Amino acid sequence: MSLAFGRDVRAIPGPSMIPDRVLGAMHRAAPNIYEGELIDMTRTVLDDLRRVARTEGSVAIYIGNGHAGWEAALANMLSPGHKALVIATGRFGFGWADTARRMGIDVEVMDFGFRAPADPDRIEARLRADHGHEIRAVLATQTDTASSARNDVLALRAAIDAAGHPALLAIDCVASLACDRFEMDAWGVDVMVAACQKGLMTPPGMAFTFQNAKALAARVACASPYWDWGPRINPAAHYQLFCGTAPTHHLYGLRVALDMILTEEGLENTWARHETFARAVAAAAGTWGARGALELNIAAPSARSAAVTTIRTGPGDGARLRRWCQEEAGLTLGMGLDVPGEDPASAFRVAHMGHLNPPVLLGTLATIEVGLAALGIAHGRGATESAAAAVVAHGRPATVADTSSLARSTIMI
Ligand SMILES: *Cc1c(COP(=O)(O)O)cnc(C)c1O
Repeated sequence: MSLAFGRDVRAIPGPSMIPDRVLGAMHRAAPNIYEGELIDMTRTVLDDLRRVARTEGSVAIYIGNGHAGWEAALANMLSPGHKALVIATGRFGFGWADTARRMGIDVEVMDFGFRAPADPDRIEARLRADHGHEIRAVLATQTDTASSARNDVLALRAAIDAAGHPALLAIDCVASLACDRFEMDAWGVDVMVAACQKGLMTPPGMAFTFQNAKALAARVACASPYWDWGPRINPAAHYQLFCGTAPTHHLYGLRVALDMILTEEGLENTWARHETFARAVAAAAGTWGARGALELNIAAPSARSAAVTTIRTGPGDGARLRRWCQEEAGLTLGMGLDVPGEDPASAFRVAHMGHLNPPVLLGTLATIEVGLAALGIAHGRGATESAAAAVVAHGRPATVADTSSLARSTIMI
């Protein structure tokens, strides 16, 4: 009989769990959109989004999801016939490439497979070969949410510079903003795309593009009045920030989420918390993998996302495990994604993004372990203890879970 009677836990990579305070802030009557609080608050939201992105550049808010952000960035950077080089490290690069292709952009995809980050040397070589500088933009994800590979964004910038190439660098941080460390200006990123429903803990409905002076100088005549950066960045009237009615309640929710990140926790601490949780999940997966087929999709620790972890299983076990966790325990795990060469039923994903603390994360891992045992899926024992040790090591530059401190760690947690 199911034990799923309690608060459901979603460990899916978006939408992430929404803090009650964010929901509470949205529970209000329609605000005045002409003057007063909403107008003033919107300014602070724009400023704080730039702080989360670590940029002095500008931000545009769109009513939309991550796909809207992709399209908005493309519509301002590239015209039909312009060439873009898209770096794929899983699934989402292909998605962005497909959007670009359908907008008439000449797309070249460099595929680095499903189990590794991009190789900057290959990108540098490709750009060196582009003697006529036909490539106007290089597009890449920071974290690919399907593979959980994290690209080294600074290394991508260095590759472009080493090739002496003028292309814009555009990064998709939909999964990773406020999870994986990201420094737009310091890392030389020209355009960044994000959305509100992952690390920013707000219900789906807002997409963001961030753009620096170089991106604005290179911007094309945008064929779409809705995507056009111009009035959104320099509005003559408030409504132009949104090309129409503001996403009023989402703004109130996001205001609270930004306070939680920037004021209460501090962005550095938010990044460190996510890094620790990613280590905890990796430690658990490593222990499970001691017997049977479970395995981390990304082998190199430095190439693993702090926002989500993809775990491979024996044939069909990922789907069975997800069903068990959902029906018997009220835990929703991320599904394996349908990518050529990959079986979505033979993987699952654990999201560790946004509003998350040790009881929820360790409970999630323990519940997975119960599911593995209940289904008779072979696995190594003791994963929860491995994860606990990673949590104890929080704030220390530990790389591997320290099992010797286990007895103490249990008490501390
Ligand atoms: C979720 C996600 C998207 C797409 O966002 P939607 O809101 O589903 O349109 C794009 N890129 C990455 C890396 C994502 O994680």
